[in-house]
Amino acid sequence: MEKLIAATRNENKIREIREILGNYFEVLSMDDIGISGEAEETGSSFEENAILKAAYVMKQTGLPAIADDSGLEVDALGGEPGIYSARYSGSHGDDESNNQLLLKRLEGVPKPRTARYVAAIALLRPGKPIICCRGTCEGEILTEYHGNGGFGYDPLFRCETGETFAEIGPEMKNAISHRRRGIDAVLRALKNETDLFSGKEVPKC
Ligand code: IMP
Repeated sequence: MEKLIAATRNENKIREIREILGNYFEVLSMDDIGISGEAEETGSSFEENAILKAAYVMKQTGLPAIADDSGLEVDALGGEPGIYSARYSGSHGDDESNNQLLLKRLEGVPKPRTARYVAAIALLRPGKPIICCRGTCEGEILTEYHGNGGFGYDPLFRCETGETFAEIGPEMKNAISHRRRGIDAVLRALKNETDLFSGKEVPKC
């Protein structure tokens, strides 16, 4: 099976990418192949950041790399936290304080507080065109936590099943999530190599 490096240090994302792509690729983590550091997320869109992350790993290894840049867009907050989802409250990856800040900002906002998860998935392969596709998952932000599964904003995000992403379990989440939809779109593009990303400025790889 072809090796594919998951260009992320987020264990939850690595697990989900492996669960979704395990039939197609041998998915390795950055730790598995001894890559230190990670790309700076200096892009202004999910797509730009996903490409930066995958390019960082492909340049160091010469191997195909897949990266996700994802987050939550809340309509009543003008799309916040968006690309800043991981560091919304200031410290990177502090899910609890991010969730508390989100609840605070939404105090007094009437239901339904509509929102969506967004994932840009970038697949970079040496000498081949970039593939970058977006997956989304619509839902709403609840006023209190429901469920113990998932990660990040999952206990507050009620999805199309009527439950939160923290309640539906990993199999269902992987069937309907933004990441799943983005990865499926990448796989479709990979199959016919036609639906290629045509953004303005993309990093050279
Ligand atoms: P990134 O690692 O820079 O792409 O930031 C992703 C952030 O978006 C995470 O730290 C979470 O806050 C949020 N996020 C993305 N996908 C999910 C998900 O599936 N569940 C919960 N939170 C997510």
